[in-house]
Amino acid sequence: METQPQVPAVSLPLGVRVKSAWTRFMIALYIPAIIAGMAKTMQWMLRPKATLQYPEERHVPRKGYRGEHRLKKDEEGRPKCVACFMCATACPAECITIVAGEAPWPDRDKYPVKFEIDLLKCIYCGMCEEACPCDAIELTQTFTQVATSRAEKVYDKERLLRN
Ligand code: SF4
Ligand code: SF4
Repeated sequence: METQPQVPAVSLPLGVRVKSAWTRFMIALYIPAIIAGMAKTMQWMLRPKATLQYPEERHVPRKGYRGEHRLKKDEEGRPKCVACFMCATACPAECITIVAGEAPWPDRDKYPVKFEIDLLKCIYCGMCEEACPCDAIELTQTFTQVATSRAEKVYDKERLLRN
């Protein structure tokens, strides 16, 4: 009696073995892989988009995001900072430079003649904000400021008061 020639099975991932000549032909043409790829593409097309059309659309950071620093002002427009050095002492990156001077106002002894933060050294930990006894410094949600030189990222007092 004549016997059919044995068709060798094809092994697929996950231990699947395919013997059918038609299925093997389809696999050879990548048809199942193309269908699986198209299905995945359709699946992602129907999901909400995670990308934004910048600059028309802007990302809004979550509450509590730690971006660039701001020196706060009091009701009279003066810096609230009293140059106590607590923030500079607490700063683990040692990126705050303060020079204290005698305050021209009677309600405090000192004020910052110079107040600089090197934002390229800063690790945005928020320790300066935590350490300040006068609520004079805070980290804002600003994260989009760009610069063309390292010097531009060293913010002085006026820049920090504007932030
Ligand atoms: S956020 Fe942290 S690293 Fe940056 S200036 Fe404040 S204390 Fe220093
Ligand atoms: S801790 Fe506050 S008040 Fe003291 S130097 Fe820093 S910003 Fe000024």
